[in-house]
Amino acid sequence: MRTFAKSNPKTKSKSSKFYVTTAIDYTNSSPHVGHAYQKIAADVLARWNRSLGNKTYFLTGTDEHGLKILRAAEAAGKSPKEFVDALSGEFKDAWQALNLSYDRFIRTTDADHKKIVQKFVKHIQKDIYKGVYKGNYCVGCEAYLPDDDIVSGKCKIHQKPVEYIEEETYFFKMSKYAAPLLDYYKKHPEFVKPYGRLEEVKQRILREGLRDLAITRAKFSWGVPFPLDKKHVCYVWFEALQNYITALGWPSGAKFKKFWPADYHLLGKDNTWFHAVIWPALLMSAGIKLPKTIAVNGWVTVNGQKISKSLGNVIDPKYLAKKYGADAVRYYLLREAPYGEDLDFTEANLINRHNAELADELGNLVARVLTLLEKFSNRKVPKAKKQKAEDVELIAQFDDTVRHTKELISELEFHRALEKIFAYIKLANKYVADEKPWELAKQNSQHLNTVLYNLTESLRVITALIAPFLPETAEKITKQLGLNAVPQLKKLDWGKLKVGTETKRGENLFEKVDAEKIGVVEPFEKLDLRVAQIMAVDEVPGADNLYKLKLNVGKIGFKQIVAGLKRHYEPKELKNKKIVIVANLKPAKLKGVVSQGMLLAAEDSAKNVGILTVNETEPGADVFIVGIDKKPVENLDLSEFIKITLTTKAGSVYYKDKFLQTYKEKVKVEKVKEGAVR
Ligand SMILES: [Zn+2]
Repeated sequence: MRTFAKSNPKTKSKSSKFYVTTAIDYTNSSPHVGHAYQKIAADVLARWNRSLGNKTYFLTGTDEHGLKILRAAEAAGKSPKEFVDALSGEFKDAWQALNLSYDRFIRTTDADHKKIVQKFVKHIQKDIYKGVYKGNYCVGCEAYLPDDDIVSGKCKIHQKPVEYIEEETYFFKMSKYAAPLLDYYKKHPEFVKPYGRLEEVKQRILREGLRDLAITRAKFSWGVPFPLDKKHVCYVWFEALQNYITALGWPSGAKFKKFWPADYHLLGKDNTWFHAVIWPALLMSAGIKLPKTIAVNGWVTVNGQKISKSLGNVIDPKYLAKKYGADAVRYYLLREAPYGEDLDFTEANLINRHNAELADELGNLVARVLTLLEKFSNRKVPKAKKQKAEDVELIAQFDDTVRHTKELISELEFHRALEKIFAYIKLANKYVADEKPWELAKQNSQHLNTVLYNLTESLRVITALIAPFLPETAEKITKQLGLNAVPQLKKLDWGKLKVGTETKRGENLFEKVDAEKIGVVEPFEKLDLRVAQIMAVDEVPGADNLYKLKLNVGKIGFKQIVAGLKRHYEPKELKNKKIVIVANLKPAKLKGVVSQGMLLAAEDSAKNVGILTVNETEPGADVFIVGIDKKPVENLDLSEFIKITLTTKAGSVYYKDKFLQTYKEKVKVEKVKEGAVR
């Protein structure tokens, strides 16, 4: 597991300025949930720092030049400018729907960007020379590929043939910066997060060295004109990287002086090389300070698969924000997985978190406290009297929560920060249950006002903590608490809530979503997997690969299943084995024989087939994945089963990184090492 290494305390932003950037997205296709993930992280950092009182600048935008866009525009029958205008607009719309509070949305077609890039080229002219580039280019990557990244003539990432190019170009003397970069990494282990990524970069430089970088193209004109030669345009990556300083008006702009160096460049793991090697080399050449930290996030997959147009699993962030609310999407994405690791997006999990955490914990607490104030204090915040031990505990936990959350955010541990904040919300809910204000009211207890004050105050501080993650919700709670402005993290001390503040109960913050009703259910939930023992194996007349198996499924009874195993197993190899079946599959007829379910077997790329087995477990027992409830449906359609991808690795069977098991043992697979269950 990759975790963000503890950063050097020196690099913690104690200063009063904060500059965060995101990857600028390439405008050759529409925004999806993978783009949104990183932008939301940047937004949380920006809002968090503003709330701490730091002068903050948050930059995002779009990368709009290059051959890939030119070709995509041609394919769409548009001019490149028309094409990027439309797509850039889509990104802006999506970010608005997710409530991103960026200070500037830069487009690499912006006039100031182009002008400053040209200035930058002249500034590093000493490191630029003319030559001829010979090599393989991947349009998908918009990059010349080293031999390492080409497998049988194709780009490793894009699986498309590379194009051999031989052309006149200008080079940047990157080779010159190999030693300075290695030296810099050594002195600044916090330069790339998570730490393992920097190690990969280092190893590659040590292995391959650094080649000079071709920074211009002469075969097309969709780019920033190269100021040293009119026949050339700047190579897209070379100029796009500069957006982080062009946006601030390098070299003399006030913003540049105030905000550079960046505290964080957030980017996806496929962009690590460009940001950890090329960008710092360019900055070194220009004599500009390097950014403090490059934070690499994992990829977002959807239901275990890579996001791609051809798989039809591109999820529009605007659609999600509309369906569940921006806050639920923001919360889910940052709570679901550690920021440096891959995240598997499923709507079912989003709904689970929305219901169990946002509605049941946070929404419930707010509704309870506001109702209590209405009933027992005429909606006004009462004065706290003597604090008892249990009250002191709630206050002490507040201090602890704030301190820890601050630390976790500075380490980009968003998921743990949210966990911490929600542990406090849980504690406040428990405080209500333990103190029973309604009983205190019956007894005319002095302690009632103290409890009501503490609860309302806990809502105020919780609002400050959640506001960067859940800005809309924070606004709503602020109104209900009768405060003028969303509470800030700066000087967030307990006890600042004014006695007499008039509160106003509002609507529920989160309405629970019925996943079943809207047709979003974790597909695995629908399966009823059971252990079955093979009692008899018979041939099926006229079928050269089928057996008819008689199975004992314990308390479920006996079943007959038809299985395509004849080419892979002798009957005696199967008899008495304990296997795994889908017990709730709609019965089907194969070659005229009824099959009441299906056995699970795996197949590898060499077409070896092996069945899933257990040893110790009795027939009829459940087969399951920890963390997924079983809600089997009757007569499950085969098409539903096919949606579920089970894989095998080292003899075990996995669903989304968790293994298939019974209450006694892991399920094993025969004959197949790495394969898929069919
Ligand atoms: Zn490629």
